[in-house]
Amino acid sequence: MSESPQASAAYRDLLERLAPIEELGSIASLLQWDQQVTMPPGGAEGRGAQLATLHGIIHARVTDPELDRMVRRLEADGPALASDEAATLREARRGIDQATRVPAELVEELSRATSRARHVWVEARRNDDFAQFAPELERVLELRRREADALGWQEHPYDALHDQYEPGSTTARVERVFTPLRERLTALLSEISQAREVLDDEPLRRHFDPVLQERFVRQVAADLGYDFERGRLDAAVHPFAQAIGLGDVRITTRYDERFLSMALFGAIHETGHALYEQGIRDEDRGTPLGHPVSLAVHESQSRLWENLVGRGRPFWEGRYAALQATFPEALGDVPLDTFLRAVNRVAPSLIRVEADEVTYDLHVLLRFELEKALVEGSLRVRDLPEAWNEKCRAYLGITPPDHATGCLQDIHWSIGHVGYFPTYTLGNMTGVQLWNAAHAALPDLDDHLRAGSFAPLLGWLRENVHVLGSRLLPDDLLRRVTGAPLDAEPYLTYLEDKYARLYGLERVAT
Ligand code: ZN
Repeated sequence: MSESPQASAAYRDLLERLAPIEELGSIASLLQWDQQVTMPPGGAEGRGAQLATLHGIIHARVTDPELDRMVRRLEADGPALASDEAATLREARRGIDQATRVPAELVEELSRATSRARHVWVEARRNDDFAQFAPELERVLELRRREADALGWQEHPYDALHDQYEPGSTTARVERVFTPLRERLTALLSEISQAREVLDDEPLRRHFDPVLQERFVRQVAADLGYDFERGRLDAAVHPFAQAIGLGDVRITTRYDERFLSMALFGAIHETGHALYEQGIRDEDRGTPLGHPVSLAVHESQSRLWENLVGRGRPFWEGRYAALQATFPEALGDVPLDTFLRAVNRVAPSLIRVEADEVTYDLHVLLRFELEKALVEGSLRVRDLPEAWNEKCRAYLGITPPDHATGCLQDIHWSIGHVGYFPTYTLGNMTGVQLWNAAHAALPDLDDHLRAGSFAPLLGWLRENVHVLGSRLLPDDLLRRVTGAPLDAEPYLTYLEDKYARLYGLERVAT
């Protein structure tokens, strides 16, 4: 790197100023983990106040004019392209702009409106009453639109909201890669529904002792490379992975004794998230580079381990005997092929979080189209339920019997998370592009997976994705590793090939 000694001193000063802000963020993460895993229900109000105070302190530090001046001076020096300093300044600038451009009153209004809307959403879903939720959603959307204007956008107000979750991404970019999905996934789904082959997941719905499930998934996580010396596994109602800070990245899962997939694939998914976080370099922790770069890249890691490894044949050729030995009564008489067909069964359902690989992205597409229309004002909130049901019929071939399983099913909109949904599908696509590159680099990858040796794949991901932290924006990362930016084609080819084989389809016309 080519910084002058003087610039280096100024850069060191900046890192020193940023470190305590990162630490405060870690403390907030620990409070949030505790809130979802161990806190008694009575602690909710107090915890809300603690987090609000903490976020106030973080906000004050990020918006301190002196921090802005320090960053501005270093920006003016023109840091070497592609240097750590340039990436640090980009991340710091982003944080400062997001915190300073939105007026404090609007931040407070949003915080009040979303905590109220979340509460009303729970009630409305329970009562299956969209009309009860509608005014709250209108309010949240109005405030988020004002936030988008404050943040600034060029082509579409949705750009400003989406960018908060996926740096550098735009509505146009999402549309470019989503458009081919609509046609080809609905075509694939319709072929599957007419296929002679029927896949049954009944073997996964037998009885599975949760204690044994936990023992099994703990072993799987450890074998995949999750470091329990720097992490822990707990049960949570809504499973998640949480990086607390240096040497502490935690995962959670949930157990259903009548459905094995819940804990098993849930734990592999969260392990994938955690492997990314555990792969961040220790020396980057406490700096803006010591974070995964975006939600989509994060999701690419969880989905790669969950679906490309965890629902694949090589993985289970090496591990199915151990699963059968853990659950001899449930799975002793189930051959490997039957098990593989069960874990890959495609069945359109109303609920996104339970969706299979083929229908998952149709759920995301539906939400993206609706929330974009809500933000630009081409869809009115009161017309949302009908619009939802229409798209549900068009994409999935089913109509929700009520709002609770329709447009009220997700928490996201109530808490103002508009612009978030596309990252799930961008993550699926990114995962397949990385997987193809890993296969090209590791010709014996399937043999390794069969032998239960995950170090080569994890090592490749570490080197090409994890250790970069936030150095490269998602498209730059993909270009560097795969030679191409985000692209729907590899992902669609993967799905069409895999499910044509499983369902004995004629090769899907593309
Ligand atoms: Zn995830």
